[in-house]
Amino acid sequence: MSFTAPSNEQIAEALGDLSKLPNTMKMAVTNRIEESFEPVPQPDGGDWLAQHNEKGQTMESFRKMSSSKAIPHGTHKTIYIQPVGSFDHPRAPPLDVIVEFAKIFFSGCVVELLPTVDFTKDMRKREFDGRTQYLTGGLHDYLVRTRSQRDTRRELLCVAVTMADIYPQEDWNFVYGEARTKEGVGVYSFVRLGPLFYRATSEEILQTPLTEEHRVIMLQRCIDTLLHEIGHLFGLEHCIYYACLMNGTNNEKEMDRQPSHLCPVCLCKLHSTLQFDVEHLYETFANLCDKYGLETECSWYQKRLAYIH
Ligand SMILES: [Zn+2]
Ligand SMILES: [Zn+2]
Repeated sequence: MSFTAPSNEQIAEALGDLSKLPNTMKMAVTNRIEESFEPVPQPDGGDWLAQHNEKGQTMESFRKMSSSKAIPHGTHKTIYIQPVGSFDHPRAPPLDVIVEFAKIFFSGCVVELLPTVDFTKDMRKREFDGRTQYLTGGLHDYLVRTRSQRDTRRELLCVAVTMADIYPQEDWNFVYGEARTKEGVGVYSFVRLGPLFYRATSEEILQTPLTEEHRVIMLQRCIDTLLHEIGHLFGLEHCIYYACLMNGTNNEKEMDRQPSHLCPVCLCKLHSTLQFDVEHLYETFANLCDKYGLETECSWYQKRLAYIH
């Protein structure tokens, strides 16, 4: 599958009419764009765009989506994060920290971490490559079935996170995550995001002390995965306009290349739903990156902030 990067005209068309945007948003999506947003790299054989024919979702097509897109309304603005199974693992990400990032990114929503629950007996599982894997559909069903136990007047979305491996259907080896957009639920596994996952056995991983370098890589990947996947539940489809948080990823190389920020087109989509103050969002996100040692993203957000003042 060959991928042709969109031209500047096609990107302008995808952005659409900017005249009604607040000034800071206009600056965020027009000022010094080439300095801050990289083009999508030409895909290699194993990359997402070499295997998937993505057309790109314009602002207009995003606006026209009627279902399958979360829109906070009335009291419904809470994103519940439901941990499933044990997080007692030396390489489990700090969920409270990831929630802090989601709170800022999905500005105007409430993000609430629920108490951890166990896998239930009726969740389908299998043994694959020496580890237990759970079927994503079973986890989706669980989140739908237990909705009445959460605050249904406040719920906008509910996503399960787990350190267990997951698979979407019998003929797939695994999946990082899967959403059921119409029902506002999703499930994401962090287990494959550790830099040692493909390089050591489960026992070796448990015995290897976590270095600062690996802590940062893990945290960055977990944050990106959760923001990207919740982005899908807000109706954002895969992006082809720039290197962007919403690019599809197939492997670790693509995952680490993917930035933790939205490109101008995707930023406009999320803004049209959440109406956030972009200056405040960038400032608070930069501070959080600084607090947890995510230096590259911290300096990107600080640089952009200077360009939208
Ligand atoms: Zn995706
Ligand atoms: Zn994008």
